[in-house]
Amino acid sequence: MKAALEPLDWVCLLAEEVGPRRPTGESERRAAELVRSRLEDAGCAVSVAPFRGYSTFAAPHAITTALALAGSFPGRGRSLLAWKGLGLAAAEDGLRVRPLLRPLSRRHSQNVVARIEPAGEAVRTLCLVCHLDSSRSGLIFHPRALPWLHGVIALQGAAIVAAAAAPLLRRGGLGRLALWAARALLAGILGLLAEREVRGVDVPGANDNASGAAAVATLASELVAEPLGSTGVVCLFTGCEESGLIGADAFISALQHESSSGPGTGRSPDWRRDWLFLNFDGVGAPAPLRYLRREGIVRKWSADGGLVRAAEGVASRRPELGLEGSDHNAGLTYDTTPVLARGGRALTLSAQGDTIPNYHSPTDTVENLDPDVLLRAVEVGREMLAAIDGGEADA
Ligand SMILES: [Zn+2]
Repeated sequence: MKAALEPLDWVCLLAEEVGPRRPTGESERRAAELVRSRLEDAGCAVSVAPFRGYSTFAAPHAITTALALAGSFPGRGRSLLAWKGLGLAAAEDGLRVRPLLRPLSRRHSQNVVARIEPAGEAVRTLCLVCHLDSSRSGLIFHPRALPWLHGVIALQGAAIVAAAAAPLLRRGGLGRLALWAARALLAGILGLLAEREVRGVDVPGANDNASGAAAVATLASELVAEPLGSTGVVCLFTGCEESGLIGADAFISALQHESSSGPGTGRSPDWRRDWLFLNFDGVGAPAPLRYLRREGIVRKWSADGGLVRAAEGVASRRPELGLEGSDHNAGLTYDTTPVLARGGRALTLSAQGDTIPNYHSPTDTVENLDPDVLLRAVEVGREMLAAIDGGEADA
């Protein structure tokens, strides 16, 4: 048996030894394989669950944006295109029914799933979540652009609505002006998506999200030696988070299927009640360590009340860990957002201020982490495990 890795060793292993981990790529697969073998060495029961995905979020976004842009101009059947764009964009944003997910998912990816049974009878399941893949840089993620990213995405939604309303807007001078503004924005977004594909580089992702994987892997190794009393723990290392939460979607879809196909097939008849999801995404950046009360880009979902209560308890019992709650979520979705969108119970931990330092940048390296934040995040994880096992998050 190899010696257990420290959290920072896990980060180095993923961000430096494996390096950038593009969704569906060879290095993403290698990262999954490494985590699997290391956790098996630590004594975990581990499986790898394959699924199909795509490598970049540009794929669905370019389709909805291009449909809206094309549909905003006069011509037969154009309006239908814009409505199609609007319908697809709204469905994708809702994270429940995703019409573009299956047709675009052609490439192989995988989730790594480790299970640690409790010492006693399981009354709940806690899923510790993190993603193994890393993102790609682009002008869109330039530090000066980051504070505006959320606003631009909201405006993109408004522009798609304007494109669908083009026949109406064309009737008045002001409406025509608004329509041209919407077209300019949609064209600009298509340009930014293309710029990222052509000129961007896949980033090492030390903070986002080798740090989260390090936290979950560390907790998994500790739990094998000392399992919880009444909480089964599932450690989920997803693929394809950065391209559209695809690994998380695949895991939840399978869980939902298991739940609905009757007793005897899973631990719990209703995953929405008995499963809790605690997500670690970017927990090593030099920024305040936060639990996020809300997730989502245009639509927002509230984090689970019980988990928020447990996090509040940890924050007040252990003030030196610097854990704080936030209503601001850097304008993002996380692997737990599809859980919340489907009525499940989840909470995300992330180190972030107004923005996330070195976000989707080649500077997201081990040197630019704050190791103290990472160690505090792991300790918050331990405290959350104890609180949840003690029933603090129970509904
Ligand atoms: Zn991330």
